[in-house]
Amino acid sequence: MDSAYRIELQAGNVLFREGDAPTTAFLIEEGTLLITTRQNGSVVVLGELGHGVLIGEMAVLDEAPRNTTATALNHCVLTPIDRAQFAERLESADPLVRALLFSQLGRYHNALARFSGAARSSAGDETAMRSAVSLAHDKIRLESQLRRALDLHELDLYLQPIRHIASGRIAGFEALTRWHHSERGPVSPAAFIALAEETSLIVPVGEYVLHEVCSALQQFAPLAATPFVALNVSGRQLQEPDFVERMVAQVRAHAIAPTQLKLEITESVALDFDKVTALIASCHREGIAVALDDFGTGYSNLGLLHRLQLDALKLDKDFIHQLHDPRCLAVVRAVIAMARALDCAIVAEGVETAAQLAQLTALDCHYAQGYFIGRPQTVDEALATFAADRAAA
Ligand code: C2E
Ligand code: MG
Ligand code: MG
Repeated sequence: MDSAYRIELQAGNVLFREGDAPTTAFLIEEGTLLITTRQNGSVVVLGELGHGVLIGEMAVLDEAPRNTTATALNHCVLTPIDRAQFAERLESADPLVRALLFSQLGRYHNALARFSGAARSSAGDETAMRSAVSLAHDKIRLESQLRRALDLHELDLYLQPIRHIASGRIAGFEALTRWHHSERGPVSPAAFIALAEETSLIVPVGEYVLHEVCSALQQFAPLAATPFVALNVSGRQLQEPDFVERMVAQVRAHAIAPTQLKLEITESVALDFDKVTALIASCHREGIAVALDDFGTGYSNLGLLHRLQLDALKLDKDFIHQLHDPRCLAVVRAVIAMARALDCAIVAEGVETAAQLAQLTALDCHYAQGYFIGRPQTVDEALATFAADRAAA
């Protein structure tokens, strides 16, 4: 079965020919390919490549026509890797890594040019090189699989309830994305979101999640009261010039109120004051609130608080888990007072016990989120949770 994600060859099939324009490199998953080139009109065998090896990447890297031909010696399975996947990485790569790569590339071309009789240069620290290469291959595979998961709608939207402490009611949910990988099992968002952020893949992932969130909000519409859903947004997504416009277009297309959507940005993103000030202003024009996520874990730059018109601060779970410590309690009390003075709501993250909720209630914290309030759940479960919560009101 051939697709954009997997290619199968039988013995004798040619993967690419000398002179072809390079668009794709390949990771050999199974089988062996014979690499040949022409020398003075006759075919010369350069070698055989098998499982776990990249093929065709040299021509893709420097965009030169293929200078070898690759033919399957037996049944082969390959994962194609698009040139864009390399190009994006190369652009953002550490300059030293880029230099190393290009020096290798130069060596490869020299070797091919002096093909008849030149001695092979030493490969350096083979073990370290192999483990670095195998890590890179693992990432490449995971990235290709994430692209596939996105195309096949295999990412799932989970919603975690957020309780308004004073009323005791669920006010909304945070959207958390889950990837159930067919072979690896569940892949944590910490792993695959970071991977998606390394390339522009986070942009389609973000759009997919937004679409799923809007569809979920549509399902809540028939209920008497409707919750908000808070969406995590990465810095890379905000670089898209029409980020807010596209978001608003989705909201309109689903006929939901913009006030039902909230954005969560992290401190590292918020440090880009100009960009984030503009983002918050555009969101506010549309009626969309913006929260600062994981507050207290990063730079905790107080400038973020007085320079940005944030609607909410999400206090990181590390603080909530240490509320028994009087010094931590003092910090949390001060942060809540500061946020209240700025007309900014506080959401306590990671609330796991009744004691923590009681302390937060005493501290006059606005919202609580965590396993004690409710686990991240499917949209159907969240609908039932919300309906039951409202029925109990
Ligand atoms: P976050 O936005 O701070 O989300 C809260 C994380 O805390 C979630 O982890 C949630 O499952 C976990 N959590 C909730 N309650 C508790 C609790 O009581 N105790 C403990 N120990 N943990 C709790 P998760 O789902 O693994 O997500 C990790 C991070 O991945 C998120 O942190 C968020 O930054 C990112 N993320 C998740 N989904 C998306 C997404 O769709 N887009 C983007 N850009 N980032 C996402
Ligand atoms: Mg969040
Ligand atoms: Mg958080």
